[in-house]
Amino acid sequence: MLCPYCGHSDTQVIDSRTSEDGTIVRRRRKCPKCNSRFTTYEKAALFIPMLIKRDGLTRVPYSQEKLRKSMELALRKRHVKAELIEGAIERIERNLKLRKEKEISTKEVGKLVMSELRQLDPVAYLRFASVYFNYSKAEDFAEALKKLGDTLEVENKS
Ligand SMILES: [Zn+2]
Repeated sequence: MLCPYCGHSDTQVIDSRTSEDGTIVRRRRKCPKCNSRFTTYEKAALFIPMLIKRDGLTRVPYSQEKLRKSMELALRKRHVKAELIEGAIERIERNLKLRKEKEISTKEVGKLVMSELRQLDPVAYLRFASVYFNYSKAEDFAEALKKLGDTLEVENKS
Protein backbone atom coordinates (compact mmCIF):
# COMPACT_ATOMS: atom_id res chain seq x y z
CA MET A 1 0.00 0.00 0.00
CA LEU A 2 1.19 3.53 -0.86
CA CYS A 3 2.41 5.74 1.96
CA PRO A 4 -0.17 8.59 2.21
CA TYR A 5 2.56 10.96 3.45
CA CYS A 6 5.42 10.55 0.99
CA GLY A 7 3.94 8.32 -1.67
CA HIS A 8 6.48 5.56 -1.19
CA SER A 9 5.18 2.46 -2.92
CA ASP A 10 5.69 0.00 -0.10
CA THR A 11 4.60 0.11 3.55
CA GLN A 12 4.87 -2.52 6.27
CA VAL A 13 2.13 -3.86 8.50
CA ILE A 14 3.37 -3.57 12.08
CA ASP A 15 0.20 -4.60 13.88
CA SER A 16 -3.07 -6.25 12.90
CA ARG A 17 -6.17 -6.55 15.01
CA THR A 18 -9.72 -7.76 14.47
CA SER A 19 -12.58 -5.82 16.05
CA GLU A 20 -14.48 -7.49 18.87
CA ASP A 21 -17.37 -8.55 16.64
CA GLY A 22 -14.94 -9.79 14.02
CA THR A 23 -16.22 -7.60 11.18
CA ILE A 24 -13.33 -5.11 10.90
CA VAL A 25 -9.59 -5.66 10.66
CA ARG A 26 -7.48 -2.72 11.78
CA ARG A 27 -3.88 -2.55 10.59
CA ARG A 28 -1.11 -0.26 11.74
CA ARG A 29 1.30 0.42 8.92
CA LYS A 30 4.69 2.04 8.76
CA CYS A 31 6.51 3.62 5.86
CA PRO A 32 10.17 2.54 5.74
CA LYS A 33 11.10 5.66 3.79
CA CYS A 34 9.63 8.52 5.88
CA ASN A 35 8.83 6.52 9.04
CA SER A 36 5.23 7.76 9.12
CA ARG A 37 2.63 5.49 10.67
CA PHE A 38 -1.00 5.19 9.68
CA THR A 39 -3.98 2.91 10.16
CA THR A 40 -6.10 1.10 7.61
CA TYR A 41 -9.43 -0.59 8.17
CA GLU A 42 -10.58 -3.58 6.26
CA LYS A 43 -14.26 -4.39 6.08
CA ALA A 44 -16.30 -6.67 3.85
CA ALA A 45 -18.08 -4.57 1.24
CA LEU A 46 -21.74 -5.51 1.47
CA PHE A 47 -24.26 -3.45 -0.39
CA ILE A 48 -27.97 -3.12 -0.19
CA PRO A 49 -29.52 -4.12 -3.53
CA MET A 50 -31.30 -1.61 -5.75
CA LEU A 51 -35.03 -1.44 -5.14
CA ILE A 52 -37.56 -2.18 -7.86
CA LYS A 53 -40.76 -0.23 -7.47
CA ARG A 54 -44.27 -1.55 -7.77
CA ASP A 55 -44.42 -0.96 -11.54
CA GLY A 56 -41.67 -3.57 -11.86
CA LEU A 57 -39.54 -1.21 -13.97
CA THR A 58 -38.36 1.75 -11.94
CA ARG A 59 -35.16 1.19 -9.96
CA VAL A 60 -34.27 3.40 -7.04
CA PRO A 61 -31.39 3.21 -4.59
CA TYR A 62 -32.25 2.11 -1.06
CA SER A 63 -32.68 5.01 1.35
CA GLN A 64 -32.47 4.55 5.11
CA GLU A 65 -34.14 7.93 5.53
CA LYS A 66 -37.20 6.82 3.55
CA LEU A 67 -37.41 3.58 5.47
CA ARG A 68 -37.21 5.39 8.80
CA LYS A 69 -39.84 7.93 7.73
CA SER A 70 -42.32 5.27 6.69
CA MET A 71 -41.81 3.43 9.96
CA GLU A 72 -42.08 6.59 12.03
CA LEU A 73 -45.28 7.48 10.24
CA ALA A 74 -46.77 4.12 11.18
CA LEU A 75 -45.48 4.55 14.75
CA ARG A 76 -46.72 8.12 15.15
CA LYS A 77 -47.93 8.79 18.70
CA ARG A 78 -47.24 5.22 19.66
CA HIS A 79 -44.92 4.72 22.59
CA VAL A 80 -42.05 2.87 21.04
CA LYS A 81 -38.51 3.72 22.04
CA ALA A 82 -36.23 5.19 19.36
CA GLU A 83 -33.60 2.56 20.05
CA LEU A 84 -36.09 -0.20 19.28
CA ILE A 85 -36.85 1.43 15.93
CA GLU A 86 -33.11 1.74 15.24
CA GLY A 87 -32.67 -1.94 16.07
CA ALA A 88 -35.44 -2.85 13.64
CA ILE A 89 -33.85 -0.75 10.88
CA GLU A 90 -30.51 -2.41 11.54
CA ARG A 91 -32.03 -5.87 11.23
CA ILE A 92 -33.83 -4.95 8.02
CA GLU A 93 -30.63 -3.56 6.49
CA ARG A 94 -28.63 -6.57 7.58
CA ASN A 95 -31.17 -8.86 5.99
CA LEU A 96 -30.98 -6.85 2.74
CA LYS A 97 -27.17 -6.82 2.70
CA LEU A 98 -26.97 -10.57 3.08
CA ARG A 99 -29.09 -11.21 0.02
CA LYS A 100 -27.33 -12.30 -3.09
CA GLU A 101 -29.67 -10.47 -5.47
CA LYS A 102 -28.56 -7.25 -7.11
CA GLU A 103 -32.14 -5.97 -7.08
CA ILE A 104 -35.04 -6.45 -4.74
CA SER A 105 -38.66 -5.40 -4.95
CA THR A 106 -39.98 -2.76 -2.57
CA LYS A 107 -42.63 -5.34 -1.76
CA GLU A 108 -39.97 -7.59 -0.21
CA VAL A 109 -38.68 -4.68 1.84
CA GLY A 110 -42.25 -3.98 2.93
CA LYS A 111 -42.57 -7.53 4.20
CA LEU A 112 -39.46 -7.09 6.33
CA VAL A 113 -40.85 -3.84 7.73
CA MET A 114 -44.14 -5.53 8.52
CA SER A 115 -42.52 -8.34 10.42
CA GLU A 116 -40.55 -5.82 12.50
CA LEU A 117 -43.59 -3.63 13.17
CA ARG A 118 -45.61 -6.65 14.20
CA GLN A 119 -43.12 -7.17 17.02
CA LEU A 120 -42.93 -3.49 17.94
CA ASP A 121 -46.53 -2.38 17.94
CA PRO A 122 -49.74 -3.95 16.58
CA VAL A 123 -51.32 -0.57 15.78
CA ALA A 124 -48.29 0.54 13.76
CA TYR A 125 -48.34 -2.80 12.02
CA LEU A 126 -51.94 -2.28 10.92
CA ARG A 127 -51.30 1.29 9.87
CA PHE A 128 -48.37 0.24 7.74
CA ALA A 129 -50.26 -2.71 6.30
CA SER A 130 -53.16 -0.46 5.29
CA VAL A 131 -50.87 1.79 3.26
CA TYR A 132 -48.79 -1.06 1.99
CA PHE A 133 -51.67 -3.22 0.79
CA ASN A 134 -53.75 -0.24 -0.19
CA TYR A 135 -56.69 -1.17 2.02
CA SER A 136 -59.85 0.48 0.90
CA LYS A 137 -62.56 -1.58 2.52
CA ALA A 138 -63.34 -2.38 6.12
CA GLU A 139 -63.13 -6.09 5.27
CA ASP A 140 -59.47 -5.65 4.35
CA PHE A 141 -58.80 -4.35 7.83
CA ALA A 142 -60.79 -7.13 9.38
CA GLU A 143 -58.73 -9.64 7.44
CA ALA A 144 -55.46 -8.07 8.57
CA LEU A 145 -56.67 -7.96 12.17
CA LYS A 146 -57.54 -11.59 12.00
CA LYS A 147 -54.07 -12.43 10.68
CA LEU A 148 -52.50 -10.33 13.39
CA GLY A 149 -54.64 -12.09 15.98
CA ASP A 150 -53.56 -15.46 14.66
CA THR A 151 -49.88 -14.60 14.86
CA LEU A 152 -50.20 -13.15 18.34
CA GLU A 153 -51.99 -16.27 19.45
CA VAL A 154 -49.25 -18.47 18.03
CA GLU A 155 -46.63 -16.29 19.73
CA ASN A 156 -48.43 -16.46 23.07
CA LYS A 157 -48.66 -20.21 22.93
CA SER A 158 -44.96 -20.66 22.24
ZN1 LIG B 1 6.36 7.60 3.61
